[in-house]
Amino acid sequence: MPLFPRTAFTSNSSIAISVTHNPSLNNVKTSHDVVSNQALALKDGGQVWNHRLEDPDKVVILARQDRRQWKSLWGGTTPGSMNTPRTLIIGLDGATFTLIEPLIQAGYLPTLARLMSQGIHGYMRTWPNMNSEAGWTSLVTGYNSGQHGIYHLAIRTQHDYTWRLASAADRKKDPFWCLLSAAGQRVGIINVPLSYPADPVNGFMLSGMHTPDIHSPGFAHPPDLLDDLRRQGIDYIIGVLRLADLCRRAPQRALQAAQHLVDVRSRTILYLMKTRPWDVLMAVFAVTDILQHFFWPDKDVSVENDVWTPMRSIYQQIDSFLSEALEIIDENTTVLVVSDHGFGPAYFGKECLSHLFARLGLLRYRQDGPQSKSRWLKNLLPYGRKVVPYWLRSPLKQVLPRLYGRALREVEFPSVDWSHTQVFVRRCGEQIYINLDGREAEGIVPSKEYAPLRERVRDILLNLTDPTTGHHVVRAVHWREDLYHGPYAGQAADMLVEWDYDVLRDSLCYRTAETSIIVQSPKRFDRDRRVAGLHRPQGIFIAYGPHIKRGTTVANVSIYDIAPTILYLQGHSIPGDMDGKVLANIFTDERLRHYPS
Ligand SMILES: [Zn+2]
Repeated sequence: MPLFPRTAFTSNSSIAISVTHNPSLNNVKTSHDVVSNQALALKDGGQVWNHRLEDPDKVVILARQDRRQWKSLWGGTTPGSMNTPRTLIIGLDGATFTLIEPLIQAGYLPTLARLMSQGIHGYMRTWPNMNSEAGWTSLVTGYNSGQHGIYHLAIRTQHDYTWRLASAADRKKDPFWCLLSAAGQRVGIINVPLSYPADPVNGFMLSGMHTPDIHSPGFAHPPDLLDDLRRQGIDYIIGVLRLADLCRRAPQRALQAAQHLVDVRSRTILYLMKTRPWDVLMAVFAVTDILQHFFWPDKDVSVENDVWTPMRSIYQQIDSFLSEALEIIDENTTVLVVSDHGFGPAYFGKECLSHLFARLGLLRYRQDGPQSKSRWLKNLLPYGRKVVPYWLRSPLKQVLPRLYGRALREVEFPSVDWSHTQVFVRRCGEQIYINLDGREAEGIVPSKEYAPLRERVRDILLNLTDPTTGHHVVRAVHWREDLYHGPYAGQAADMLVEWDYDVLRDSLCYRTAETSIIVQSPKRFDRDRRVAGLHRPQGIFIAYGPHIKRGTTVANVSIYDIAPTILYLQGHSIPGDMDGKVLANIFTDERLRHYPS
């Protein structure tokens, strides 16, 4: 039984039709002047097709402007009773209300202000993901990392303290676009991080950050999409990692490069929105994350101040894009604006914790000479960034994965003496591993000591304070089995630290009756990275549309809830084992009455 009302058509001689309900007709782009109740006569390049429609609800109406270009008739010119539900999802990597709200108050973001005031908004809980790869994968699948297998860009294959680069091929759960596509809905997916290789969806797809190269096979579906963009004068790029590079080496040129990225991305999205049929379209801007890492503004400074210029201008540019996108969509389209994690000032949890563990004898550093092999490996990545042209880096990483993995290890764990290390720290200090005998390549902790050691480390963490203010810096310490479940839960860190990000900066104090230790992150580290901002657990969620409550806020939104909510919006069933739930409290009562979640 169809979930949505049947669509009745009026026809005239300028209407063209494309059928979405039958995969065998996916590539038929055709025009004709007859749309009758149950039968269609389709004409394509002189060939006549006759097909009986089983489900006329899924017919999409397009107008043809010339031989190549098809324009959707949805929106203001939609035939009156067109009723197909549609969802537009705009992802802003790392976007945070901490920046958006002051910019709205100063009048810089009228479109986001409108979406929030005429729709619903609230913080989105992204913990324990906290990075783009795990975050977006959880957001588009509705599952935790233990189920979909992505914890970060780097994947552990062997327990030898090295990691390899992940791709969408490592994602063990289908994103919502695969489910909808299999059900005959048209999807358009643009620039979602870790979506390479692109899925052969019913619609179109351009993979995002961590695509080796836009000329790599599997970047675009269908493969001629790039040619189509080029014919429109759009020289498509992904470009965010290159931007990060520029932020480090030549920050004065970074803003201009970021604006160019947003311009290319916006024109691509708008062009595809207008010219290709879609029921669900998702596009991500990753530039917000990169710029926030390097140009995070001091929140106590006015948004008019120069330190705000990069973030103010990029959010403004994206806001203008949103305004144009809203003009294209019709009254049946729901708009979601989401981020994969939040953002805030930089902190140095990993560096401080590693030094503290060293002082407590839980981790040991080797006494390397300057000529040692590990020092050479450690310098390989920064040196490579200086001398290897950007276009060659991805191919090199693919060709020399072991060398790359070992170089990453030396950057991540510089000079760690594994044979005397019980505990080690990854990422920004959120992930703590036990150097377990029998699991890690040089593990020394016997399995019977695993539980007592975790308890001991938790006690240490909960004791930590800021040396200046005396405030505790850790809110909670979680065991991995309490956060993750599923066949890949064993790849998680043994313990996860929930820092108090309002307190944690670049030093820690550990004080007991017997000892008092203060550790400071090395200043050189700070200067090398030029990092001003880092991720936070609270992302953003904004929803706006015909079935969404207006002018209110929503609490308890989880990153896992987005995929099931999109499926619900599109009338698709929700897999029973999804970790997320439909965000029923964002919908109007009328909608819930007609379509219970
Ligand atoms: Zn980031």
